[in-house]
Amino acid sequence: MATNISIKAGWNFDNSFARLPETLYSFLKPTPVSAPQLVLFNFPLAKALGLDVEALQSAAGTAVFAGNRIPEGSLPLAQAYAGHQFGHFTMLGDGRAHLLGEQITPQGERFDIQLKGSGRTPYSRGGDGRAALGPMLREYIVSEAMYGLGIPTTRSLAVVTTGETIRRETKLPGAILTRVAASHLRVGTFQYAAHLAGVETLQALADYTIQRHYPEAAAAENPYLALLKAVIKRQAELLAKWQLVGFVHGVMNTDNMTISGETIDYGPCAFLDNYDPDTVFSSIDLQGRYAYGRQPGIAAWNLARFADSLLPLIAAEEAEAIKLAEDALADYFPLYNRFYLTGMRRKLGIFNEEEQDQVLIDDLLALMQKYDADYTNTFRSLTLDCREMELFKSAEFLQWHQQWQWRLARQQETAAAVEQLMKEHNPAVIPRNHRVEEALAAAAEDDYSVLKRLLSVLTDPYAYTPEQEAYAAPPPPSALPYRTFCGT
Ligand code: AMP
Ligand code: MG
Repeated sequence: MATNISIKAGWNFDNSFARLPETLYSFLKPTPVSAPQLVLFNFPLAKALGLDVEALQSAAGTAVFAGNRIPEGSLPLAQAYAGHQFGHFTMLGDGRAHLLGEQITPQGERFDIQLKGSGRTPYSRGGDGRAALGPMLREYIVSEAMYGLGIPTTRSLAVVTTGETIRRETKLPGAILTRVAASHLRVGTFQYAAHLAGVETLQALADYTIQRHYPEAAAAENPYLALLKAVIKRQAELLAKWQLVGFVHGVMNTDNMTISGETIDYGPCAFLDNYDPDTVFSSIDLQGRYAYGRQPGIAAWNLARFADSLLPLIAAEEAEAIKLAEDALADYFPLYNRFYLTGMRRKLGIFNEEEQDQVLIDDLLALMQKYDADYTNTFRSLTLDCREMELFKSAEFLQWHQQWQWRLARQQETAAAVEQLMKEHNPAVIPRNHRVEEALAAAAEDDYSVLKRLLSVLTDPYAYTPEQEAYAAPPPPSALPYRTFCGT
């Protein structure tokens, strides 16, 4: 019986989002699939959520991840949202996803449990509501890698294949990802409420968001302005973390930016190989709008759209609201720069602050770009004091290296402490694009061993274990240039 299975599996749902005004969502169940099979399951995450790993790996557990069985306490719904896609405003919404509810963990934390690829909804537009196996496995790998890197992100609990084929350019195996998130509230959710749902709903959404993510804002003189400021800070911190590891999101539309500050929507994302701010991987980003070097600026633009949506709540007088919002937005770049500079100092083993640190960093980045140096491996090599890279043989670099050594000598910390700090902030491995592709290719042949090995070296990317060495190699020339396709 469903009830027994739900209790046994540890599901403990609340549905606070479903208590918001109904214009924000549509209640509906996932569309069942014919022959689901569990292909990936995240044991540590399941345990942290208070779920029973044994029960979930049974056929009844798989049925939940497939949308074939609704666990007790779940009230499935698709969320409405809008968003600017490549700068153009559109009505969107969960076109192929169902929120099952919010799992309350034994520690009392609240996480959205969402199925992605689980069937059509009122927001599907022309889409089939389904997802292909490759992109769902890709999201699993990259989101878990981001988690390992210490970057706020949605996570992946399970992937099931559906036993059905879906039509894209070719026929592909269908799959469903179970996504776990602090919430699925997006900048686009606020745009939807502001433009299409009315100010009462907007206020209910803002109050809900404050309570769920920024409770300290409730006590502020102007809670909605405090919400805006808190989100600006969270995103500035997130963007700095992306830039510091060389992560290119690829589709920073406003619907793909969370209010919680977690990374979401792993479609065409990829990590830098050689350092070049103009790097674009996505095949549909023809203008380079979402290039690596443009990401912090795009986040600022998206935050301005968030601010626009909040204006009616920030002040009764529009002119005053605009002034307050503009002042809040003006803090974004100083915050971002501070987070980035702090992170870069750590990557270079620098503990204290000197005015000239920015120049030292800029000089290194300029050399990396000039010598087509691999981003991750430059810092890895500096950490390990390994001089094999081409960059390290140039006279210009040797000069830079001398400057850096003098800089390190001007602080109290020992060489061992410097090495330790660098190891904690320079990953030995990232999910290299060719390694991800290799894992997906094997999985397409039903061999998940390659993918699981990749996941295991990415669990602690700062461990510097011998197993990680092989995964640090940059891509062979045959794997370049790398192109990604929107994850559908
Ligand atoms: P994304 O590019 O993944 O952020 O998705 C943009 C929008 O397209 C969202 O509203 C998705 O729900 C929707 N969407 C993407 N793929 C499908 C699909 N296969 N069927 C229905 N809607 C989809
Ligand atoms: Mg999206």
